[in-house]
Amino acid sequence: MSTHAPTPRPGVLAIEAYVPGESKVPGGLKPIKLSSNETPLGPSPAALVAYKAAAAELERYPDGQATALRQAIGRRYGLDPQRIVCGAGSDELLTMLAHAYLGPGDEAIYTQHGFLVYRIAILACGATPVVADETNLTADVDKILAKVSAATRMVFLANPNNPTGTYLPIEDVRRLRTLLPSHVLLVLDAAYAEYVRRNDYEAGIELVATTNNTVMTRTFSKIFGLAALRIGWAYCPADIADALNRIRGPFNMSTPSILAGAAAMDDSAHVESAVAHNEEWLVWLTREIEALGLKVTPSVANFMLIHFPPEEGRGAVACDEYLKSRGIILRRVASYGLPDCLRLTVGTADENRAVVEALGAFLRKGT
Ligand SMILES: *Cc1c(COP(=O)(O)O)cnc(C)c1O
Repeated sequence: MSTHAPTPRPGVLAIEAYVPGESKVPGGLKPIKLSSNETPLGPSPAALVAYKAAAAELERYPDGQATALRQAIGRRYGLDPQRIVCGAGSDELLTMLAHAYLGPGDEAIYTQHGFLVYRIAILACGATPVVADETNLTADVDKILAKVSAATRMVFLANPNNPTGTYLPIEDVRRLRTLLPSHVLLVLDAAYAEYVRRNDYEAGIELVATTNNTVMTRTFSKIFGLAALRIGWAYCPADIADALNRIRGPFNMSTPSILAGAAAMDDSAHVESAVAHNEEWLVWLTREIEALGLKVTPSVANFMLIHFPPEEGRGAVACDEYLKSRGIILRRVASYGLPDCLRLTVGTADENRAVVEALGAFLRKGT
């Protein structure tokens, strides 16, 4: 009998497990949680009705094709439902893409402050993560291209990126696609697309439609307010949709997720009010926090990066501790290479006022 314990495949133990935004504060206060980019407005009421109705048939397997959900997405964006693949959050889709297209010896590129799920997905396949530097906390097409080697198989680009809140204009994304080798799969993670109000931004639908090597992923976890249900989707070239459908779990979406997601997709008025709320408060928060003397990276999403001086007692860590003592949770982003920053999610009007007030009190407090 062997005394050796099972060992994971190479790469697995190189993964640092993802640490989600915190959700608890000391003393059992009900926290003001602005740490995970969730919407302060909650989901569409229609999604809640659909979710509750799904309780009537919990003994039945879900529709393995998630047909109602793919059709609702297709209706909303004018897309062929056959080219839409749904997943348990876009995280599952990013992981499935990596599993379908990466293996040992392959390289996949993401950017310096890019979303950490990419690194995890790449390493989990035994492939090698390659990090491209950014310029001014923004992805840089030339720096990504400079990292392409004979082994490159995939590029992950969050647009806008989390945690920086910066974005690349669609012209730059097109240039990236044009200059990448055609066998390299470009994954455009557009988790915050609905929030962006810029004429030169596009999530990438047209690029997916007109190339055979680009995928766009989207989520119901942010503006749609359904993070707890784990719903994401990918719009893919037909061959890539086919590959994903071969490797995905046959029932990867639950019935409550399928039905609530479809109802949320059909409620465009709810999304519009969430966009309006965000536009107003993103501007207000940026202005008020800058007025306190802190630098804020201009964001096009529903969160922003706040920069602190790297000083003991006055820096990001001290501020985070202070805010937590007042029941307010922001996101530390040292794991993204940003130890002197905190990420703040736009909250309700009251939450936004409370966080600005608390930041001011922290800065006045001195050391
Ligand atoms: C929040 C987020 C997602 C969404 O993840 P889900 O698994 O759909 O909840 C994807 N990409 C980025 C960059 C994000 O910030």
